[in-house]
Amino acid sequence: MKLYSTNNHQNIVDFQQAVFQSLPEDNGLYMPLSVEKLNQDWIKSIQNYSFQEIAKKISYELLKAEFSENEINDLIDEVINFPAPLVFLEEDLAVLELFHGPSFAFKDFGARFMSRVMAHFSRKEDQLLDVLVATSGDTGGAVALGFLGVEGTRVTILYPKGKVSPIQELQLTANGNNIRAIEIEGTFDDCQALVKQAFLDKDLIGRLNLTSANSINIARLIPQSFYYFEAFAEAKRKGFEKISFVVPSGNFGNITAGILASILGLEVKQFVAATNANDTVPHFLETNTYSPKSSVQTLSNAMDVGSPSNWVRVMEFFEHDLHVLKKKLLSKSYSDDETLKAINEIHEKYNYIACPHTAIAWLAAKEYQATKKDKSEVTVFLSTAHPCKFPDVFPVHLRDKIINPKEVKELKLKKSLKVEMKNNFSELKEWLIRNN
Ligand SMILES: *Cc1c(COP(=O)(O)O)cnc(C)c1O
Repeated sequence: MKLYSTNNHQNIVDFQQAVFQSLPEDNGLYMPLSVEKLNQDWIKSIQNYSFQEIAKKISYELLKAEFSENEINDLIDEVINFPAPLVFLEEDLAVLELFHGPSFAFKDFGARFMSRVMAHFSRKEDQLLDVLVATSGDTGGAVALGFLGVEGTRVTILYPKGKVSPIQELQLTANGNNIRAIEIEGTFDDCQALVKQAFLDKDLIGRLNLTSANSINIARLIPQSFYYFEAFAEAKRKGFEKISFVVPSGNFGNITAGILASILGLEVKQFVAATNANDTVPHFLETNTYSPKSSVQTLSNAMDVGSPSNWVRVMEFFEHDLHVLKKKLLSKSYSDDETLKAINEIHEKYNYIACPHTAIAWLAAKEYQATKKDKSEVTVFLSTAHPCKFPDVFPVHLRDKIINPKEVKELKLKKSLKVEMKNNFSELKEWLIRNN
């Protein structure tokens, strides 16, 4: 697979370079140079294939230049080892649960795939691969658990003190093995600045084989397309021929992967990107003026993004044709009040507890369904995280009803192993060298 940079279409690299570089030097984003459609007969009979078989087919089509069929099979067997169930709440409304992986959020798909891809490429070199990453919560857990025990890799995670939930913190700090967690006395932005500085430090990059696990890495995008096909396979088994997806969106990576799925040949009637008060995209689709802003804090904090990095990829996939884009993609923003009301309503209506991000997607799904007539179309909204990750959001009567996965109970018994550090680059650098 060859990729180009959105800032310079002549800047073309191979997949390995795009994976280790994450971001092109010209500050664009890497995009696949060409995507061939999957065989239509295969898609028509997709209900006959398992989730793993679907993931293997897509990976093989996209990465046949880099991986043998056997390597793809092994990779997917390791990565896709948990399900993405489609749970019907109404006759033609279903929630796609993407939180059955190790960190209980959909980011597990991207992080697990990326970790194995990086390990595959670095196996050929004998130096340990050092992944350095800053997190505000969900990304770090997925990366830590994605790389945990992956040979030839070591992960160092920087997170802001007091700003992640207790479960999130344990997911970062209770691993040991090849995962190290550093609690920084500062904000998420401080953590990110430290990571950036490390990548600019010639002395440090001369000593360590550093790479980032950035959320815009192309290796995180590809595996997120798998579950759109998987949802369609399950919908077909239930007798549906048409499908629409509602995606709770922050940095717009998840929905970009959905659009990649449609470019691979999956027919999607409608995409809806649901956001919280960070409404840069809904505002753009309404006014044609793109004005990114600073993020505002909301209850659905994994979507608190004022300047969504993947939006340029969405535009690129639609060849910057706003007319076509607006037909395929709707976007709507919801307030914290609406989110809380939705959480309660979902519980009353279906006896189902949705995390705040998922609740926003449900609101947009209901609003979309009010405009459509076709009963052969199923509306699927994506559930991006398990509610146990955000206990503080829920009113007490619901909080007590959240059933923690057994892994959470195990996690609470583990010892937290964090390193505490000031927001100071020399201290970080010295620590990284001393603990090499
Ligand atoms: C990261 C995240 C999102 C936003 O996904 P994007 O790909 O950034 O749009 C939504 N919900 C949860 C729980 C997340 O962790």
